[in-house]
Amino acid sequence: MDGIGIRQLVRDMGKKLLAAGLVLGTWGNVSARLDKKRMVITPSGMDYLKIEPEDIAVVDVETGEWSGPRKPSTEAPLHSLIYKARPEVGAVIHAHSVFASTVAACGKDIPAVLEEVAQVAGGPVRVARYALPGTKELACNAVEALEGRNAVLLANHGVVAVGADLDEAFLVCQVVEKAAMVLIYGTLLGGVRLLPEGDVAELRRFFTEKYLAGRTRGDQDSR
Ligand SMILES: [Zn+2]
Repeated sequence: MDGIGIRQLVRDMGKKLLAAGLVLGTWGNVSARLDKKRMVITPSGMDYLKIEPEDIAVVDVETGEWSGPRKPSTEAPLHSLIYKARPEVGAVIHAHSVFASTVAACGKDIPAVLEEVAQVAGGPVRVARYALPGTKELACNAVEALEGRNAVLLANHGVVAVGADLDEAFLVCQVVEKAAMVLIYGTLLGGVRLLPEGDVAELRRFFTEKYLAGRTRGDQDSR
């Protein structure tokens, strides 16, 4: 995809996050991999409804150098480090959704309370150690806690979701938010029952081998 096409998709995803209530105001940010060395990312502090594809900055993930009329998001170092650490990741969404942020504010992980947590996030979603937003430390802590998963909670802050593309990262975001809600409401009802560890691995294996592989062939299985 050419640079302007992917920047349009990133712009559209920002609007989608806002409409879904996963971000408020100008918080949160969206990026997609442009090529091996570069990503495109939403600008810093700009209203999602006013962003044009041209406002989406192009950033070198190795050097942090950027081009475009607007300064990239302050969380660009976090996105860059994820692309460097995880070659299979094609898109990153950082949201400040309410239920995921609540669990993150309690410093807790989201265990496998639902099958989707295993299937889509790859297992329990860990909370990364706290660091100030926009810092290298935050990026390092997040990448460490993201290992083997498609999502990570940022303590007292929000959630980061990754995927092969923007649609997958958005799905991860939605699943984490739902699981966080189920965890909180389930605790009010006396506590959730967790999926057995072996089943978590099996659910993930089935999802990646059958569902995601099938999706690329166009014959989706809705299990
Ligand atoms: Zn944030």
